[in-house]
Amino acid sequence: MVKKLNFSFPTKVLGPVKGFLQGELKKLKKQAERVKKNDPFADTSRVNDNAAVDTDVAEQVGHSNAEAKGKFIKSRIVQIRKALTRIKIGKYGICEDCGKMIDTDRLMVFPETTVCVKCVKDREK
Ligand SMILES: [Zn+2]
Repeated sequence: MVKKLNFSFPTKVLGPVKGFLQGELKKLKKQAERVKKNDPFADTSRVNDNAAVDTDVAEQVGHSNAEAKGKFIKSRIVQIRKALTRIKIGKYGICEDCGKMIDTDRLMVFPETTVCVKCVKDREK
């Protein structure tokens, strides 16, 4: 039988982690807004018909970049929200896949992580 893990981090430790994650979330939201603004496709003053080919290509590239950046930022926002939820339900630092404790070294580097190293590798398979 698997021994049920009853570990949770003390509030003393979780407080700063929570604060850090909330700060990151704020930063990411701002970044997401900025990326949106910098997306040439979001520029409403853009005139489609007279656009020179060069401008079109540049805009296309700019749009792809903005899209890739936006996606990356969004996935981080989702991950940080997840970590904040884990804190709320008292499961922060416990792997959501195997239920074992996540290495604290890993949590120091990626405080938003909710999966242990082993399970991340399993997911990548
Ligand atoms: Zn795991």
